[in-house]
Amino acid sequence: MASGTIFNIQRYSIHDGCGIRTILFLKGCPLHCPWCSNPESQSSAPEITFAKDKCIGCGYCVKECGTGALALDQGRISLRRDLCSKCGKCTGACYAHALEMAGQTITVEEAFEEIEKDALFYKASKGGVTLSGGEPLMQIDFATALLKKCKENGIDTAIETTGYQKWEDIEKIAPYIDTFLYDIKLFDGEKHRRITGVHNDLILENAAKITAIGKTLVVRVPVIPGVNDDLENLRATVRFAASIRAAGVNLLPYHRLGENKYGLLGRTYALKGLLPPETNKMRELLAELSDVKIPVSIGG
Ligand code: SF4
Ligand code: SF4
Repeated sequence: MASGTIFNIQRYSIHDGCGIRTILFLKGCPLHCPWCSNPESQSSAPEITFAKDKCIGCGYCVKECGTGALALDQGRISLRRDLCSKCGKCTGACYAHALEMAGQTITVEEAFEEIEKDALFYKASKGGVTLSGGEPLMQIDFATALLKKCKENGIDTAIETTGYQKWEDIEKIAPYIDTFLYDIKLFDGEKHRRITGVHNDLILENAAKITAIGKTLVVRVPVIPGVNDDLENLRATVRFAASIRAAGVNLLPYHRLGENKYGLLGRTYALKGLLPPETNKMRELLAELSDVKIPVSIGG
């Protein structure tokens, strides 16, 4: 039975698909967008998070660590990530939950058991399960086996994806996906490469192939002030979505909810100080795009 690496299971979500949903967040992503609200998703491997403010200075973690990555000095813990083997022993010793592991291995059966718990809610609300991340398609065997099982049990399925994956993998999982929630972050390929680390050729090509095989695909654009919120970019994206007969476009206003996670991972947030777009600005953009023949909405 295939297993995967996840970093969160969120139940009773009303985002990322219709109705009430369970969202499984899978680790690993081929892009590295500076606004990512789930930085713990980017690496495929489990990672240690350290919340300094929760630490009570008991020192139990230091005794567990066999690599010298942790040290206690005057009641304060320091973590040397270059020495950390990510064994996770310290997290088991930390009763204050200051040290935690982002990432756990889970089998398809275990994941399905979690999903199945809310089957009644899915039925009543036309909800289901959504795979998110990270990029769920990076764990193609696990994702395919899990969504296949969900479909066999009558559960609606969605996947939140960057679309940056070889077509053979997408073709393999597509029969088990009801809705593709498909990110197009920037329409200009060079700018996409500069900011996310990869060109968008494959992403646009796969989007067209997905709708061509009759699957429902909703384009989602994270609207990041000063990065991709210009009308030229948004208009090109919405026109492309209409041209491939996508079901709609969701404009997702930038938010800073993931900012503190960068500190927990010992990283720096590149967009520090950037403010989310104002509601009026989002409404203006929506109005400007209303002439393109495709439903466009804020949020989703
Ligand atoms: S994960 Fe293992 S190696 Fe890393 S700090 Fe904790 S105990 Fe030490
Ligand atoms: S075990 Fe947790 S609370 Fe205790 S010193 Fe280590 S990090 Fe701090």
